[in-house]
Amino acid sequence: MKVTVFGIGYVGLVQAAVLAEVGHDVCCVDVDAQKVENLKQGIIPIYEPGLTPIVKSNYEEGRLQFTTDAKMAVEFGEIQFIAVGTPPDEDGSADLKYVLAVAETIATHMQDPKIIIDKSTVPVGTGDKVSAKVAETLANRGAEIDYQVVSNPEFLKEGAAVSDCMRPDRIVIGTDSDHVKDVITELYAPFNRNHDRIIFMDIRSAELTKYAANCMLATKISFMNEMANIAEMVGADIEQVRNGIGSDERIGYHFIYPGCGYGGSCFPKDVQALVKTSEQIGYDSKILKAVEAVNDKQKSKLPELIKRHFGDDVAGKTVALWGLSFKPKTDDMREASSRVLMETLWAAGAKVQAFDPEAMEETQRIYGSRTDLALMGTKEAALNGADALVICTEWQSFRAPDFDLIKSELNEAVIFDGRNLYDPQRMADRGFDYYAIGRGLSI
Ligand code: NAD
Repeated sequence: MKVTVFGIGYVGLVQAAVLAEVGHDVCCVDVDAQKVENLKQGIIPIYEPGLTPIVKSNYEEGRLQFTTDAKMAVEFGEIQFIAVGTPPDEDGSADLKYVLAVAETIATHMQDPKIIIDKSTVPVGTGDKVSAKVAETLANRGAEIDYQVVSNPEFLKEGAAVSDCMRPDRIVIGTDSDHVKDVITELYAPFNRNHDRIIFMDIRSAELTKYAANCMLATKISFMNEMANIAEMVGADIEQVRNGIGSDERIGYHFIYPGCGYGGSCFPKDVQALVKTSEQIGYDSKILKAVEAVNDKQKSKLPELIKRHFGDDVAGKTVALWGLSFKPKTDDMREASSRVLMETLWAAGAKVQAFDPEAMEETQRIYGSRTDLALMGTKEAALNGADALVICTEWQSFRAPDFDLIKSELNEAVIFDGRNLYDPQRMADRGFDYYAIGRGLSI
């Protein structure tokens, strides 16, 4: 089938690549000319396991193309995916300007019927807005062409995006049209062989399903962080509590890890956007507001522990930081806890020596001009001469480090672990001051 994808970001590029990988012909279009040029030369803009080989091979074999030519892209596919960003507006609601711009572009250039599939995360009612924008643009042209607007929210996880798209848990489709159901069933058939993963529903329910899923996951994290803070104050160990509650299959072990707060491009903005949607309809979403407030506070947890340890005065201290991305296996630093940590330390006059297995270029892009940040080539180099080690991301390579080396490289044997990677008693036995989340205040 011939498919057009607007937006070559985390969602658009991965979706386009897996659709091409199973044999569809895919045209990717983006307004970022540099990104398009790079992709044509095999330079992939993001780090995502397994993505580079399928982008390169499908491009070389002609099933995947990249362009800035929107007219050509609209003409290309019967199916038009919208996978552009929906960043938070100033008031926290989702900014739909990119989504609506694409709707207008499609309607400006379409010559034959199109199925317009929204993959971006958008508030309930956006399907109607996209429909209205297409209708208005077609009317201005004096054109009468059939189109269907469909909601197909994306559930991929950064760091596992290719495998999530190849083997999705579910494919949620919001539509009332039988024709659309047939076309989408055919489009996704290669990903739907093991058992039927397609869940058809109405557009509004599909739009809300995405927010409900992300808000549920964010709620689990904030709930565990709240438990961790209570555990710390009552002298309990949240990791033992986690084991204790996870064994109940109604709760389960997934997604109940305490830490230094959630980040990324989705949870913070999607919780905020649903709070805003609720406000607009006159509903006070108490749980969601609390989820957000707990997370904001949790991101200050490590800087507070550091200040407490050093007697509130961190000016002139150098901190070694392991982990910059918002989670492992990605280079994405949007809303990462590491950013709050670094910015708080810099404001207090401290310096940072940082290492991340994948997010060094991204850090350079964001903070490259700072003189109080040194980007180090290895995790060991980041330790050299630092006054403390801080861990913000649970990369595999941080799980079993050489503790003797850490001790000899640091000026002081102190670790602030935002991801509970190590055992507090063993760390104490090794002679470290070890601060973790919800496990007691250094032993
Ligand atoms: P992104 O910022 O990585 O990519 C968006 C791309 O759209 C950019 O390359 C941008 O240049 C392009 N773009 C903007 N306007 C355009 C236009 N008019 N025409 C063509 N291209 C245009 O965004 P992302 O992380 O891929 O997220 C896209 C959407 O998917 C968002 O709504 C997001 O909430 C949702 N989502 C993201 C994830 C994730 O893990 N990143 C997961 C599920 C859903």
